Amino acid sequence: MKKTITLLVMMLVAVTGFTQSFVMINTGNQQKTENLFKDSNLKIHYYNDNFVLATAEVVDKNMIVLDSPAFAGNDAYYIVYCGKENQQDYLAEIKAKALFSDDNIMIFNQAVKPYKNDGTIAVFNKEAKRAVANRDFPFVTEENAVIREMMNQVNMDSLEATVQYLQDYQSRIWNSDNAFAASDWIAGRMEALGLEVEQQPFYASTWTGSGQAAPNVIGIQRGTLYPDTYVVCGSHFDSFSYEAMYGGGACPGADDNATGVASVLESARIMTQYDFEYSIIYCAYGCEEMGLYGSEAYASRCQQEGMEILGYFNNDMNGYLYGDQIHIDCIYPNSVAPIGDYYMNVGSVYFPELPIRHVNFNEGDSDHTSFNNHGYMGIYPFEDYQHYSPNIHTTNDLIGPSVNSFEMSQQYCRMNIGCLAELANPVIDDNVIVVDELDEEIVRYEVYDLMGRIVNKDVNNLESGVYIVRYTTKKGNVLTKKITK
Ligand SMILES: [Zn+2]
Repeated sequence: MKKTITLLVMMLVAVTGFTQSFVMINTGNQQKTENLFKDSNLKIHYYNDNFVLATAEVVDKNMIVLDSPAFAGNDAYYIVYCGKENQQDYLAEIKAKALFSDDNIMIFNQAVKPYKNDGTIAVFNKEAKRAVANRDFPFVTEENAVIREMMNQVNMDSLEATVQYLQDYQSRIWNSDNAFAASDWIAGRMEALGLEVEQQPFYASTWTGSGQAAPNVIGIQRGTLYPDTYVVCGSHFDSFSYEAMYGGGACPGADDNATGVASVLESARIMTQYDFEYSIIYCAYGCEEMGLYGSEAYASRCQQEGMEILGYFNNDMNGYLYGDQIHIDCIYPNSVAPIGDYYMNVGSVYFPELPIRHVNFNEGDSDHTSFNNHGYMGIYPFEDYQHYSPNIHTTNDLIGPSVNSFEMSQQYCRMNIGCLAELANPVIDDNVIVVDELDEEIVRYEVYDLMGRIVNKDVNNLESGVYIVRYTTKKGNVLTKKITK
């Protein structure tokens, strides 16, 4: 009898293999994280500077077993940002059991309502990749006049128009008709700029329900020399508030995150007027608020396809100014320090007076994390990690109380352009005028031949010859220049 049982157990082991456990391993230093990525016993799903979440074949003493077997009845685990002092009340409210909790976070095996603000990350049964820079970031020593010209074109009215338009949807909850309409509207804006546009559908299983989310919008501007190497920026367009979920209120999401979408679209509006050696991708994601679903769907596909991405720049909340000095708080893990250094470098060359800090934010997260976890260097320049808009995720996330400074949004957008452009390398034709002395937006230009006849052509696409270009700026100033092509 005993023998039979032993045999039966052996057969079961042979059929099912070992039970795989969902584990947490504290790291705290990058070398340890790197070693874990090399460990064939582990399939890593998520990592940050402090810990790794993985499926382990064999459990050892360094692992905290959170769940076993792993991913048995759930598609994902959820990290929720909630400080120790609030955890008891929070658990009572959501009526769920946490697999783990420490001073700042809790981990669940089911989708749960976030504690407060942006505070949930869904961790799927996919293999993460450690972020590596496949090449060094350039060290910028002086301004590029063409890039400065791009930055000078960032227009506050244009930013405000986009924020107002998105705010006017009242709410853009991830699977609502409004969110789908917003996705279509952003796709239309990108198409009008001549980008290759794709709307990437994806499925989400969230604490508010499951189904198709409003699709990501991905717009590509092809590089002239390296069309298959990319520089990426992105923002989420969905919004969220408890008032909108439970009736009686809206979630206009002006600061969170119409301002980010405005920055991405304004960058595209300006940068599509130029050619670059590398391709630039402009993204707008759905369903960030429920756990970074949209960016996860896109970044994991980029990893799967082996796309080479030189850097990812996130745009999420840039319109609430606390105090009177515009400043930028950069959120990123130490594991992607090279892109952090690069951001600071670009800032110090173009805006030496602008305070930029690297901060550790433990009240939430955003879409750069999806890129970091799929092998890419991504960074999140944020409005202020201690004093961000108090109105996000409420009916009051509006222009005025929540977006109180388009000057600040303009600064963020200029930095976004600077970082993208320095990496993507603008193609500078010596014969094309750089109106760097003109600190005004050009609204129109006409090209004339030497006989004074108007030549109905783009200044970048002229046949050889001598031409006169007449620029009109937004303030109504007119400037004439002679160019030789
Ligand atoms: Zn956000």
